[in-house]
Amino acid sequence: MMLPPGAVIGMVGGGQLGRMSAQSAARLGYLVHVFSPEQYGPASQVAARNTVASYDDLDALRRFADEVDVITFEFENLPAASLELLENLKPVRPGARILAISQDRTLEKRFLNDAGIATSHWVKVETLAELEAAVEVLGLPAVLKTTRLGYDGKGQAMLRDPEDLPHAFERLSPKPLVLEGFVNFGMEISVMVARGVDGQVVTFDTVENRHKHHILDLTIAPAPVGSNLLAQAQSIAAVVAEQLELVGLMGVEMFVTAKGELVVNEIAPRPHNSGHWTMDACPCSQFEMHIRAVCGLPLPPAVRHSDAVMKNLIGPDDMALWPRILATPGLIPHHYGKSEARPGRKMGHFNRLFPKGALPGELGIEDALKLTGA
Ligand code: AMP
Repeated sequence: MMLPPGAVIGMVGGGQLGRMSAQSAARLGYLVHVFSPEQYGPASQVAARNTVASYDDLDALRRFADEVDVITFEFENLPAASLELLENLKPVRPGARILAISQDRTLEKRFLNDAGIATSHWVKVETLAELEAAVEVLGLPAVLKTTRLGYDGKGQAMLRDPEDLPHAFERLSPKPLVLEGFVNFGMEISVMVARGVDGQVVTFDTVENRHKHHILDLTIAPAPVGSNLLAQAQSIAAVVAEQLELVGLMGVEMFVTAKGELVVNEIAPRPHNSGHWTMDACPCSQFEMHIRAVCGLPLPPAVRHSDAVMKNLIGPDDMALWPRILATPGLIPHHYGKSEARPGRKMGHFNRLFPKGALPGELGIEDALKLTGA
């Protein structure tokens, strides 16, 4: 059923993904009610209604559910009891099963492998002895990760020597952990995929992601790889969305191995930083697609009208450049409204468009990101 304009979307989480979703929702005539522990956060600033409460405040969640027509989230680490309560009161899209799978790297990899999708080789480890045994199987180097609560490279350690094991095992928490075989990749790519209430699936174009200090720095759309790989990545994302019976939007991150094979690293059932290029390079952005899927609207084709480079603005150093970014012709700025620019914090991004098919090479991209404003 299509939610009519004027309906209220409940958004759990108050960060920039909620902000940009709320902006798209407003354009389609919806009101957004944000539930977040933070007052005047990025999403609350642009939302019609706000609840400021902690994610385990069941009374506040009950009142919130009463006041909305459908619930979605931009924050994945919601306590299970909170999610269960919401699901009993209103449609939650995407649903609890998807959230549970994406919150736990071992459930995620098991699900993907069962669906016939390649991941890194992995072993769940609960003790140092199990870690030592897993290293015997997977070899070194290998990557040790927490199964839960990891993001932007937090909660993981690269193991190069047997001596690294005890310290890394001690340091990482919460347990259990997962040991992943090292993937010798040439490129990191991702695909945003949406699935509607009626099962219709659309995939945005495959993009390349480049990281700095474990945080996304640049997204290049489309990824500079052959058309076969681009299409293969999109079909993997579509299979993931179908197998999960997703209603909403999700990001699927993959490695392109040295042999040209695709290995899925992570799935995120929400709008994703690597989809921000769609805001300016596609008639229907990832955020509008998310809102459409959640509200039962038809999904338009996820076409792009332009090639694009997205540059993240991280922490105080990048934000010091904001006036120059505004003064540089051709950059399309997006500010998240965060009051404090802590190091490593995502503060905004800008997109730079190119005619479709005219994405420049390496030097051209570097040139296109230069700030010429005073
Ligand atoms: P994640 O937290 O899983 O997104 O990992 C953060 C980053 O660590 C990835 O973007 C990769 O650059 C690197 N990484 C993660 N897992 C592996 C792996 N199994 N092999 C090689 N590099 C990895």
